[in-house]
Amino acid sequence: MVIIMLGAPGTGKGTVASILTEKLGIPQVSTGDIFRKNIKEGTELGKIADTYISKGNLVPDDITIEIVKDRLNQKDVENGLILDGFPRTVEQAEALEKMLEEKNKKVDIVVNLTTPEEEIIERIVNRRVCSNQECKTIYNLVLNPPKKEGICDKCGSKLIQRKDDNVETVKSRLDNYFKLTSPLIEYYENKGVLKTEVVSESINKLGKDVAEEIVELFK
Ligand code: AMP
Repeated sequence: MVIIMLGAPGTGKGTVASILTEKLGIPQVSTGDIFRKNIKEGTELGKIADTYISKGNLVPDDITIEIVKDRLNQKDVENGLILDGFPRTVEQAEALEKMLEEKNKKVDIVVNLTTPEEEIIERIVNRRVCSNQECKTIYNLVLNPPKKEGICDKCGSKLIQRKDDNVETVKSRLDNYFKLTSPLIEYYENKGVLKTEVVSESINKLGKDVAEEIVELFK
């Protein structure tokens, strides 16, 4: 089973993906997490990725595709995976199709999350994440705050704000989303695998509600 999480930054891809991982028992593969881990560890890849991520730009396709190729060769994804934040360009989507074809796999469903733009900025600046790499639980200071300020409910580690979760960077991340990533909506619609879900406070629907609906589809 191959699930792709698509959507602008701040729509809740990571939140939905982590619930799906737990409920469906297949790993979440987040290219953003892979880059952040490398940045933290100061690897060559991390140094290069940081120059793009800190400006809100996409890491070049050749680098990103190579990382996913490696990840798809690991044993834990043999029965399926949830791709969170990949593909983000048509070139990446085409490369993914080839990689999956070689493994006799295909994309089963693309969950496309949409949130009104005015809510997105609010959600991103209020986002906090658990600093424990094994946990990485996502909170929102307004919609889903931790019980104890600054501390993860699940593992007790410190909560941090992502370096790229600021108003300036969000603008270029959104621009890049509309320019480079949003063509994937039509791309996957044409393949008949797109499922669009609105995530918005205005209709009282959050990531966890969407995740529940998706889980039902696989029952
Ligand atoms: P995310 O955690 O998915 O919001 O990703 C954080 C940042 O990592 C993005 O703003 C990009 O700069 C970079 N990134 C993550 N995934 C990709 C991708 N598939 N292609 C290019 N850049 C990516």
